Order: sequence, then structure tokens, then C-alpha cells
Amino acid sequence: MTPFQQFLDTQPTIEVLVGFEKRDAIAAGIIPNLASKWAALHAVYYGATRWAKQQRRGLEAARAFSLSQLVYIEDRLKAIPNEAERWRVRHKLLEKRTTHHALKAKADKLILKPARTKPKLKVTITKSVHGTRTIRATVDEHDAADIEHYLRDGLDPSKPPGPQMLRRFLDLIQGSGSIPTSVRRPIVVVGLDQHVEILRGEGDEVILGLTDGTTITGAEYLAMQPELDEVALFHPAEGPVNLYRGQRHANDKQRDLARTTLTVCPWPGCRHGSDYCEIHHMLAWSQGGETNMENLAPVCPYHNQINHDDPSHTNTRGGVQRRSGTPTWVSPNGWPAVNGYHPYGAMAVLFGDECAWASAT
Ligand SMILES: [Zn+2]
Repeated sequence: MTPFQQFLDTQPTIEVLVGFEKRDAIAAGIIPNLASKWAALHAVYYGATRWAKQQRRGLEAARAFSLSQLVYIEDRLKAIPNEAERWRVRHKLLEKRTTHHALKAKADKLILKPARTKPKLKVTITKSVHGTRTIRATVDEHDAADIEHYLRDGLDPSKPPGPQMLRRFLDLIQGSGSIPTSVRRPIVVVGLDQHVEILRGEGDEVILGLTDGTTITGAEYLAMQPELDEVALFHPAEGPVNLYRGQRHANDKQRDLARTTLTVCPWPGCRHGSDYCEIHHMLAWSQGGETNMENLAPVCPYHNQINHDDPSHTNTRGGVQRRSGTPTWVSPNGWPAVNGYHPYGAMAVLFGDECAWASAT
């Protein structure tokens, strides 16, 4: 064995950073740039944090990785502004030791959006162009979901939604109406184990997905317990358990469960929350498809419209099929691709990487 091979075999692990001091590292000849990266690693795995449980879990997994891979992971995670989401992705990247190539591929799939800072909440209005001005409002995602729900209510599906939504928007702003935030609330997707963990008071850091395409923390979930009839519980083996106080008739319940299996339209990159989707028969009614859970998927109006029901029709846009229990977009050549825009659908949340669908992400 050459000295270099020996060196590779004795790569230090994260544990060498216990007691890390940047000044000492630089004084000992470590270049400042590398010392800074080690400082970041030290802060993540050993620094004071309110994410203590995540940190313990992360440290356990990080021991299997080389320092340079851990540095790489932190470099990639900089693209995620939200700390809870950063922990979620960090755990995924730390799942098992891989080659750099595989690690990079996994990060590319998990971290979709380019780095950006959290936008400031504000309204901007442009100058006039042909007698029109564009008003742009950056608001909290929950407020945006309430507004979108209001604007989409009662649209005429035979006409484009944009102008109709504008009419409702102007009527609201200029009239005396107000957005009803409590009339209808989105459904929360929760795993049975997460539910128990949160009720025990140990799940404050858990991130749950809502069917309007937003998220809440375990702590927020706990705070909304009196409104439990908007929660869909899923068991890892049994699938959908029930909706609390399920007095709605079967059809509504099927629609609710379909909306929680996947919380966005399955088309890759589509941002429509399943609340704004139509319930689509994956095998068309006209082709003998039944109205049961196995055959129902939430698909946004646009993608539902371009999804051809007739399999003999030349298919150039792909369509939605059930893969590992989850409605998934499949290309015209038969390749499935997951919409990673809002990974909080019940199957992804509950089965994680055990589910073949999630490992395709
Ligand atoms: Zn869509």
C-alpha cells in the first residue's frame, strides 16, 4: 500500500472537529477558505441550536462521510433559505455513504431552486404601458393561498382563468368584500407516527404539507388541534386511515384522500396545490376506469385538459399513471418523473425512500 492509499484509508471524520477553533486552524497552516468551511460544519453538527434532535440524528449519519463530502453537502444546502427544509434535505443526503457523483446527482434532484434570499413582503406597481400597470404583491404563502382560493372560486371553466380572477380581485379591492380565511381550510397531511410524536410534544420541528401547497410546523399543527376535521391521517402499511370526524359522504372523502396523496398537480414543475386541482380518472371513465381511490389523482385544470383520455391518441405530452401508489407523470416514452415542487404528499412524507416513487426523485 502506498502512503497515499494509506492516507485515503485514514480520512478524518466529522469527529475531528470537536473543539474546533478557526483561529487555531489558520495558525496551523490551514487556508482560511477551508477553515471557514470547517467552521460551518462545526456549527451545523456541534454548534448551539434549537434543532437539537435533528443535529443528533445528523451527526450520527455524518460519521460515515468524509469531511470533504460534508463540506460539499453544506455548500449545496446554502441554496435552501429555510432551516427546517435544510435539515430535511441534509438528512436525505446523509442517508447512506455514496460516491461524489451519486451525492451530487442526489443533491441536484433534491435542491431544485437556485440560491435566493427570502423575498421581502411588499407591493410594487410598474409604470404605465399601453394604459396598463402591473401590480405585484409578495405576501406570506398562507395569505397567498387564501387569496388564490377566493379568486378561483366559481370561475367559468370554458374561459381563461386570468381575466376572471382579475375581475374578482378588483371587485374585492374596490368593493366591501373580504377574503374569508376561515370558511374553508386546507387539509393537513400527517403520518400516524408523526401525529403521535407531535401530540407527545416531540414534533415541533416536523414539517407538514397542506393541500393548498403551503407548509406548517408540528408546533403550528398542535395549535390547530380543535380543527382536526381537516387532517388526513395515513398509516405506513394500511394507507389512508381516516379523516377525523368523517361525516362527509364517501365521494367528498375520496376527493380529500386523493388531494392528500399528492398535494400538488403531478406534472413536474407544476405549482398548483391539489386544492386547485380537478380530480382526474387516471384510467378514463370512457375507457372503463372506475371512481375508486386507485384510479383518482388531483391534476390542475390545465394539465387535465392536455392529458389525453384515449390511449390510441398520439401521446406527445405524457400523462398521469399510478406508480408505487402515487399518481405520477409518465413521459410519452414511459419514463416516470416526480413533481418535486412540494414534496409533502402522503406517500412521500410517510414512506420516504422506502417508496420506489420517492427514490425516483
Ligand atoms: Zn399542473
